[in-house]
Amino acid sequence: MTVPLDIVLLGPPGAGKGTQAKRIELAHGVPQISTGEVLRGAVASGSRLGERVKPIMERGDLVPDELIVEVIRERLEEPDTRTGFILDGFPRTIPQAEALDEMLVGINRRLAVALEFELDEEEAVLRLAGRAEGETRADDDPEVIQHRFTVWRESTRPLTEYYRERGVLATVDASRSVVEVYAAVEAVLGPVTR
Ligand code: ADP
Repeated sequence: MTVPLDIVLLGPPGAGKGTQAKRIELAHGVPQISTGEVLRGAVASGSRLGERVKPIMERGDLVPDELIVEVIRERLEEPDTRTGFILDGFPRTIPQAEALDEMLVGINRRLAVALEFELDEEEAVLRLAGRAEGETRADDDPEVIQHRFTVWRESTRPLTEYYRERGVLATVDASRSVVEVYAAVEAVLGPVTR
């Protein structure tokens, strides 16, 4: 049996993590797990989880670590993650990264790579502003976008160092076209899937 392909995607909002995750999913047959999509689904369905996270997401704040860690724990128990997973939007804080490490130790697995999409904040904000015109998302309002970046800078950006120290960080330049960025992603994944 081949080793599961367990991937974490890092990078600011607007860096294109979701777009690249879908491509990796198609090419490598491992599921994309987007916490943003899972939570938006919960809000749309009106579940208890959805009711709880709706106001938090609308402000652009992070939902509590314990809550999202449970969501991930349950999701990683699904059989489709046996061959691996692509985490998009998780972890977003150091405690979440530590919880993920523990979960992986528990199932005798380790991250193949933490793939960081590097993009200037200015460029990322422009991309999100563009996206807001097409698909309306409650948190794509300009003020909320600014707040999401503040939260990212303070809580999520430190994960780059966290994974660098653990020797699993790889960085790609996310300012290029979708196709070019994906080529860079494959250049990283090639060696780890062999
Ligand atoms: P973005 O487009 O900014 O990357 P996502 O679609 O990944 O945003 O997430 C949207 C919102 O869902 C976040 O602003 C946050 O409120 C919530 N969320 C998603 N993932 C997490 C997480 N790992 N921890 C806490 N909150 C999260």
